[in-house]
Amino acid sequence: MRPLILVSPSIAAAGVEMPDPSISVAGAYLDGILKAGGIPVSLPLVTELEAIADAVAQADGVLLTGGEDIEPTLHRSEVSEALRSTCFLDHPMRDAMELALIRETFRRRVPMFAICRGHQLVNVALGGSLYIDLPSEAPGNVQHNQVARRFEAVHPVRIEPGSLLETLAGGSELGVNSTHHQAVNQPAPGLRAVARADDGIVEAMEWDATAAAANGWFLSVQFHPERLAPTLPAHARLFSAFVDACRARPR
Ligand code: MN
Repeated sequence: MRPLILVSPSIAAAGVEMPDPSISVAGAYLDGILKAGGIPVSLPLVTELEAIADAVAQADGVLLTGGEDIEPTLHRSEVSEALRSTCFLDHPMRDAMELALIRETFRRRVPMFAICRGHQLVNVALGGSLYIDLPSEAPGNVQHNQVARRFEAVHPVRIEPGSLLETLAGGSELGVNSTHHQAVNQPAPGLRAVARADDGIVEAMEWDATAAAANGWFLSVQFHPERLAPTLPAHARLFSAFVDACRARPR
């Protein structure tokens, strides 16, 4: 049987997409899972902890998708109005829903693949910090917000030797797309940066050696492999490795 993979959806307020609050998932995420041999299923619009726990208990893996910015006060106590005004925040329910999803997924050691906003939110969930506004807080020579070229590799990332990502990428460098306004600053305890852009921005994380022994399969990436997987095999391999881990996970 193909592994069942929970996918975190985008949330739209009443009147934005439909008359009621609604969820949606970009087809590229679903295709990435389907082509790798998994069955993607979207989490419903729910914050009830028990429902999220029951959903995770029946899943073989969890995919956190991309989205808008994360509420800054979730990881920083003092946030100026000027800094806050640079953010285009996601639906507040989404932060709560995904934080619960992340905690439950790790508690049960269910494999997790976290993309873009997901990569950042995992870092927040585990006690790491983010750049709230990358252009003003960490100005560098890499352009990280290239939405018009979201289906192309626009900047390289350098990959840590000995990491899972190095194996999947087939080398120490990978070309990635980049459509983010925020970024990981300090990786959370238990996580290590395994890829960085030329300006030092963290583009992927895995468990450190100690945490890896105690946890399930985990990879997070700041880029969008689901948009590159159809044309660049290295990006498709990230989905294959994730789905393989879901299939193999002890139950
Ligand atoms: Mn980037």
